[in-house]
Amino acid sequence: MNDSEKAKECLGRIVDLFKAGNIPKALAVATIPSQPGIPSAKWSISNRVLQFIADTSDAREFRQWQKAGRKVSKGSKAFCILGPNTKAINETDDNGKEVKKVIVIGFHAIPVFRAEDTDGEPLPYEPATPPPLVDVAEQFGLSVSYQTFASKYYGYYQGGSKRIVLASHEPKVFFHELAHAAHERIEGKLKGGQVPSQEIIAELTAATLAQMYCPEANLGFSYDYVKSYAEKSKKTIERACLAVINTVGLVLDEILNKQLVKEDVA
Ligand SMILES: [Zn+2]
Repeated sequence: MNDSEKAKECLGRIVDLFKAGNIPKALAVATIPSQPGIPSAKWSISNRVLQFIADTSDAREFRQWQKAGRKVSKGSKAFCILGPNTKAINETDDNGKEVKKVIVIGFHAIPVFRAEDTDGEPLPYEPATPPPLVDVAEQFGLSVSYQTFASKYYGYYQGGSKRIVLASHEPKVFFHELAHAAHERIEGKLKGGQVPSQEIIAELTAATLAQMYCPEANLGFSYDYVKSYAEKSKKTIERACLAVINTVGLVLDEILNKQLVKEDVA
């Protein structure tokens, strides 16, 4: 495929997004100011939409990764963003004076790689130390990665692709997603979207783990979160919690037993 064919393919992807009605979400995400200091923070909106389609928040050219002390993993596929082809022309201005002007005459494709497909020096938006219980996620067969944003959430769990993506360094955010994963191991596939009972189970589990592993954490957010979901299911916060408390116990067991198994071995 030559350069202009590649560029056309990139444009085609943006058009497909429009057709599928997904452009508002892509644009909303693309316009969130991302981490300063990463190259894509300076990209055009259309290139950031392409980055969003590629399911990453940090894509860079091969040599830019090298400069950042990271290696692109073997077999990783690049995706393309668009760079302008410019040409300097001479134009006559209103006063009859000749001036030089740079115009865009087309686009070329620039191959870039996703942060998720690289290894090496820590990324600026990764925490210095991983959250407690990160090894339980590993034992569940899940990858844990950080992005500069994760859609409109602080994090999410994707059972199908076996991963947890976090846009917060707060351990409780990780615990919440880990709880969804443990819940799914017990009950089988969870329903998509924000189902009140599932959210209350995840957040109560996360709040409990936060008490155990980082007692200094502020749990005010948990209360408001659970309350909002209790209201959605037309229950008082007490009733909503009581209805799921047994499941929360099972989810905690699923997570903490994995931790114990590991400590026994160590
Ligand atoms: Zn959740």
